[in-house]
Amino acid sequence: MHELSVAHAVVSTVIGALPSPDTRVLQVRLRIGELSGLVPQALEFAYDVAAQGTPLADAALVIERSPIVVDCPTCGRQELASARDFRCPACSVPCGNVVGGKELEIIDITLDDVLVGGGVA
Ligand SMILES: [Zn+2]
Repeated sequence: MHELSVAHAVVSTVIGALPSPDTRVLQVRLRIGELSGLVPQALEFAYDVAAQGTPLADAALVIERSPIVVDCPTCGRQELASARDFRCPACSVPCGNVVGGKELEIIDITLDDVLVGGGVA
């Protein structure tokens, strides 16, 4: 299951970014593109597994989907409605120049305010 390795990578990336190992994480926001091949429900499940026993154990996972974007030679950047039809939605020219939709990135993380900014570690 691809999602599980992605979830582990997300969890370890967030842990690596924490100001201190006992910082609690409240929320993690991810952006995944329509072409990333990831299924949000599967990723949520995998995240719950990967986050167990870590500072992310109680953190909510928020997933935002980003659309497939092609760069049409005549119309410029256009969002595709589906991954099944790679033609420009405006002029119907076939567009293989995908410029968006493969994203897998952490948008931001929300840390427990009580512990963050506490000063001396
Ligand atoms: Zn076009």
